Amino acid sequence: MIRRRRYIERSPLRRPRMTRRRSLKALADKLCGAIVRARGACENCGSTKVLQWAHGLSRSYHNVRWDFRVNGFCLCRACHCYFTYRPEEWRDWMVRQIGQGEYDRLRARAMMRGGKPDLAAVVLMLQRGAVT
Ligand SMILES: [Zn+2]
Repeated sequence: MIRRRRYIERSPLRRPRMTRRRSLKALADKLCGAIVRARGACENCGSTKVLQWAHGLSRSYHNVRWDFRVNGFCLCRACHCYFTYRPEEWRDWMVRQIGQGEYDRLRARAMMRGGKPDLAAVVLMLQRGAVT
C-alpha cells in the first residue's frame, strides 16, 4: 500500500490522492455511520459506550452497504467485536432483529449483479436521512 502510493507520487502521471468515487464512498460511510450511531445505544446490550456502525451483511456488498434501516446496526465496540468473530451467531441475531423475510430480501439484494450503486445519489439520500 505504502509502496504503491510512493510510486503514484513519483509518477509523471500523478493522480489525485483520492478518486471522486472513493471520496464519495468515504462521505457516504461517514454520513451513514453518524445516522446509525445516533440511535444512541447498542442494539444488543444497551451500552452507550463507544458506539459503532455494524453491517448486517458485509460492507463488501455495496448494493446494501448504506441501507442503514435494514442492514445497519448500532453496536458497542465489545458487541461488534464479539459478533465479528462469530458470523453464525451474528446471522441468528440479525434474523431476530429484522425477521427471516427481510433478511432473505436483503441477502437477495446484496447478491444482485449489475452495475455499481450511484454514490452521488446514495450521498444525497443519506443527507436527507432517507432509505438507500
Ligand atoms: Zn453492546
